[in-house]
Amino acid sequence: MNILKKIKNFIKTIKLSLNLEKLNNYVPVIITRSEHNISRKNINKNVLRVLYKLKDHGYKSYLVGGGVRDLLLGRQPKDFDVATNAYPEKIKKLFKHCYIVGRRFQLAHVHFGSDVVEVATFRASHSHRKHHSEEGMILRDNIYGNIEQDAVRRDFTINALYYNIINYTLVDYVDGLKDLYAKQLCLIGDPTTRYREDPVRMLRAIRFAAKLEFSIAANTAQPIFSLKELLLNIAPARLYDEYVKLFFYGHALESFKLLKQYGLLEILFPHWQSSLNKQVKQFNNNFIIQGLKDIDGKIINHEQINPAWLIAILLWNEVRIVATEHKDKNKDKEKISEFIAYKYAAEKLLSEQNKIISLSKKLMIFIKDIWTLQVKLAKIAGKTDKRANKLSSSSKFGIAFEFLLLRATTGDKKAQRTARWWHKYLAARKQIDDQDNNENNNDENIVALNEV
Ligand code: ATP
Ligand code: MG
Repeated sequence: MNILKKIKNFIKTIKLSLNLEKLNNYVPVIITRSEHNISRKNINKNVLRVLYKLKDHGYKSYLVGGGVRDLLLGRQPKDFDVATNAYPEKIKKLFKHCYIVGRRFQLAHVHFGSDVVEVATFRASHSHRKHHSEEGMILRDNIYGNIEQDAVRRDFTINALYYNIINYTLVDYVDGLKDLYAKQLCLIGDPTTRYREDPVRMLRAIRFAAKLEFSIAANTAQPIFSLKELLLNIAPARLYDEYVKLFFYGHALESFKLLKQYGLLEILFPHWQSSLNKQVKQFNNNFIIQGLKDIDGKIINHEQINPAWLIAILLWNEVRIVATEHKDKNKDKEKISEFIAYKYAAEKLLSEQNKIISLSKKLMIFIKDIWTLQVKLAKIAGKTDKRANKLSSSSKFGIAFEFLLLRATTGDKKAQRTARWWHKYLAARKQIDDQDNNENNNDENIVALNEV
């Protein structure tokens, strides 16, 4: 028994080393400085300092990932990643303010004031089954490797281009440049295996396609339809990060369309329009599309947006349905106010949404307030009493009113009536406030005059 096991292990080791042998035989395409457009002028100064220092100490040192990709495309990179053959503890010794971070895979963070440069040691991917879950997901990802191995463990070919600081050449092991010029996303290796290893790559495919206006190559696109449910195995905190990157970097509308096309929207937001009838779905689409366009507009203008805003939009119609059902179901037992029914529906839907995309308490309160205040805004409209004054002076009014206006401008008749009343009310109040201010100013002027 033991001997048999030993033989099996021996065969496995040979297979593994044969695999690595194959990887080591990758011949890169080298693109010389005169053949590409990456200029050091466009690389962050601190990143250059790190690259040069590693090189000067005899290490290999490359810029890689989104930074290289975006520079080649003439775009402003979000961040720069450095890859090297130096181990984290060696990197730490080279820089005064360097910290080793990460549990699953150690990275060096080199600090220059508030600027942080991330340096990763070349990594290899596992072929050993022990490091994969039953679904094929990578559980441990902490083996160092050489540059070839580092290239092929990356996700898309366009994300695996290396800029060599020694001679400013580009090093391409995976035909990434060809795909970059063809504006297409291709997973490195067998797409199904790569999605199984890390299902988040499906969302990354959508994100890069939306952001870069690239197509997704057929063999990279096709497995998404059958593997999409694997995303439910991903930690909700990680999916929250991906959600933010999909929707709050200026390409929300395009991300939404692609997620819908690939059936990923209902995985991420199972309630987004699950029980709506066809007519409401159409109306809901207008509301959501306008909401997404507004988000993209705000990002372009560098305006702040709370990431929970979009979830408030996506689940709005479902919350209405659940609230109405809850009210109707209980009408014989006790009379439930609309406000309480919405509160109940909000808690129910948000606790379910939170199991997929993690939402902090603060974000959930933000959404709940927007939804329940829609009830209050409608109820108070038409009654000029103290409540209108109190509500319009509260800190939550602005965002709830913005939501009401989005509903109104996308065809919600009830919201239109409510919004009309509030517009009139706010205009009248402003007039009174202006008058008060003028009177106060006059008083001040009188005081000032008396003092002279
Ligand atoms: P951006 O920062 O513009 O969103 P990026 O490509 O730099 O895009 P990052 O998340 O910063 O994306 O990752 C840096 C690089 O690390 C990627 O370009 C890719 O080479 C690699 N990478 C990131 N996530 C994965 C993953 N899930 N699987 C394989 N490689 C990955
Ligand atoms: Mg990046």
